[in-house]
Amino acid sequence: MNIIIFGPPGAGKGTQSDFIVKKYNLFQVSTGKILREEIKNNTEVGQKISSLMSAGSLVEDKIVNRLIEDIVSDKKYENRFIFDGYPRNLDQANNLNNLLSKYKQKIDIVLKLSVRLETVKKRISERKILEKRPDDNEAVAIKRYQTYEKSTEPVIEFYKKLNLLKVIDGERSIDQINKEISDIITLI
Ligand code: ADP
Repeated sequence: MNIIIFGPPGAGKGTQSDFIVKKYNLFQVSTGKILREEIKNNTEVGQKISSLMSAGSLVEDKIVNRLIEDIVSDKKYENRFIFDGYPRNLDQANNLNNLLSKYKQKIDIVLKLSVRLETVKKRISERKILEKRPDDNEAVAIKRYQTYEKSTEPVIEFYKKLNLLKVIDGERSIDQINKEISDIITLI
């Protein structure tokens, strides 16, 4: 089973992915986490992307797509993916489609956590105290929310047309959302 989870910054994708990974023995692919590691390790890619990421802009598709192929081609994760933060635009969605068919896999379900901008602002100001991400301040959070609406909403439409989309109310408690996601996955 392969899953994609969508949602604006602060929607709780990471929290819900952790839960799904444990419960269904999946492997989480969070491009945000992978890219932050590149910056932390001061790699060539890390040096290229750090200012873009701090500003809340998307990193070049070429860079992200290459990182994804390295993971999707790895047999040990076959049919156990949960993609979190990828694909973020239509180019990436096409790339993922091509890669999955190249490696004889497919997406089984697409989850979208819906959250309002006001909630995003509140959650990000709380998270900033715990995680110290350079892109977690209000202005950049708004920018990331807008990038999400502009670039990622069309991708969600793409999966909706394929009848794969389930929309979840991300304003509710973590436990309630866990429960709804489990009910959806059980039906696959
Ligand atoms: P959030 O969903 O809270 O914005 P992420 O950790 O998913 O957090 O992403 C943080 C940043 O990493 C993004 O603002 C962007 O700069 C970069 N990034 C993550 N995933 C991608 C992607 N698929 N394509 C381009 N940039 C990405």
